[in-house]
Amino acid sequence: MSLVASGPAVADLPAPADLADRIHVAGRWEVGTGDIIESVDPATGRVFATLHGATPATVDTAVREGLSAATASGWTTMLPHERAAVLHRIGNAIDHSRDRIAALQTLDTGKTLTETRALAASAANTFRYMAAALETMDDTLTTPRGPWMTLSTHRPMGVVAAITPWNSPIASDAQKLAPALAAGNAVVSKPPVWAPWVTLLLARLCEEAGLPRGVLSVLPGPGRTVGEALVRHPLVAKVSFTGGTTTGRHLAHLAAEKLMPITLELGGKSPTIVFDDADVERALQGILFGIFSSSGQSCIAGSRIFLQRSIFGDVTAELVARARRLRLGVGTDPDTDVAPMISVAHRDSVASMVDAAVGSGARVLCGGAIPDDPRLTDGCYYPPTILTDVANSDTICQDEVFGPVAVLIPFDDEADVIAQANDTVYGLACGIWTEDYRRALRVGEAVDAGTVWVNTYKQFSISTPFTGLRDSGLGTEKGRDAVRQYCDQKSFYLDRSDAPLAWGSPRNH
Ligand code: NAD
Repeated sequence: MSLVASGPAVADLPAPADLADRIHVAGRWEVGTGDIIESVDPATGRVFATLHGATPATVDTAVREGLSAATASGWTTMLPHERAAVLHRIGNAIDHSRDRIAALQTLDTGKTLTETRALAASAANTFRYMAAALETMDDTLTTPRGPWMTLSTHRPMGVVAAITPWNSPIASDAQKLAPALAAGNAVVSKPPVWAPWVTLLLARLCEEAGLPRGVLSVLPGPGRTVGEALVRHPLVAKVSFTGGTTTGRHLAHLAAEKLMPITLELGGKSPTIVFDDADVERALQGILFGIFSSSGQSCIAGSRIFLQRSIFGDVTAELVARARRLRLGVGTDPDTDVAPMISVAHRDSVASMVDAAVGSGARVLCGGAIPDDPRLTDGCYYPPTILTDVANSDTICQDEVFGPVAVLIPFDDEADVIAQANDTVYGLACGIWTEDYRRALRVGEAVDAGTVWVNTYKQFSISTPFTGLRDSGLGTEKGRDAVRQYCDQKSFYLDRSDAPLAWGSPRNH
């Protein structure tokens, strides 16, 4: 592991000055009445801002006034191309503020500026894509099976709750807000306590882009009070949640009580599979990026690396050599490969999972300890870590670490690796490295994963649906149909026969 010692001082970055201690409640910028949230720069441990969060009472205000605002402003009934114009302007506003969004998100999450710039660009594209999807989306004239004209139409659901995690805030926000707003809903967003700022900035940009006042609220606060009040609220018609599986399962129970639809994008323990015919150079780069970018704090991190036995030794040696060369440092330095983690608490939980694995017999090939370099001790750093001498059934191979920790596991053949890859509760993603595309398709079909990458990893397109199978989720985000996920569907039967309805005439055609 090498160190990046310098970079622009965090103090030089734009603090959220014009957002200072204000949350966004149904169009108003207010000081929250909830607990104080301290925002800590993960690179230095310095508190850079404080924010009064929301409360369940704020949730009630935001939901009720959001619903009224969406109706009174005409947002719900606006023609699709008119709503799309607003979404286009939001996308463009994100682009114009891209550097500021990136700097703010780096300050709040520790991520590299390279990554936060890419996330901002992705958010802008998401708004524009959903605008285009909305404009080109048809209601349908269904084939008549009786003396009627039959129509299938869509309308907004009302108020949508968007609950997001801290690991890629602006992109997670956009994936929920853009389609939910496109569909004509009001949205109440509950950003994570550890990284609330960029969602508040996004609300400011939406306001400036002409989103009607009150249609969007952003309510930072604890999940168990503010988030849960949102899910339980009788006027919230749908929840779109991204976060951990335990939280997601709990929210699914609450949603079931209300018979409310909920989309869940949850955790993962994704397998990366390297066959002995792979282009090893490409595989090495993809594996390292797949697990160590974002400091491993990624739902789709390729954290279980299966290497075919005949290449296990050589690929392991090269992976370890390259992981040691990854540069650990501040997110503002362009030379940094692996930035700090979100918080000391999270970093320590990663460290304790590694310690427990070592206690159970795992062998550390690189990393494996909190760095003691004085330049890093104030920040939440953890080095790229590779473990071996583990079995897929071990806790470290089954539980999501959500940090820069990879396990290396040998396999013999396709059947063996498919069985091991599927021996997990998760089903989010899978990487396959082979020059044989028939094999790639065979294995990709057989592995339980919503996304399969072949000879690449961690690449995304807003036009391609994203789904978690098994404990990794419920429902789909992204893609053209995302807007429809936030609509109620209705059917119309318009009678066109001359004769009145005869008693007892067949009703099911
Ligand atoms: P988390 O489940 O702790 O929190 C996610 C969000 O839910 C936060 O805003 C939190 O405040 C809120 N929350 C927590 N408890 C709640 C409750 N009882 N009621 C309502 N809201 C509540 O997850 P996290 O630690 O913030 O994020 C990391 C997790 O997110 C990882 O498991 C990761 O895999 C997952 N994730 C999944 C995807 C995906 O697309 N599948 C993407 C990113 C992250």
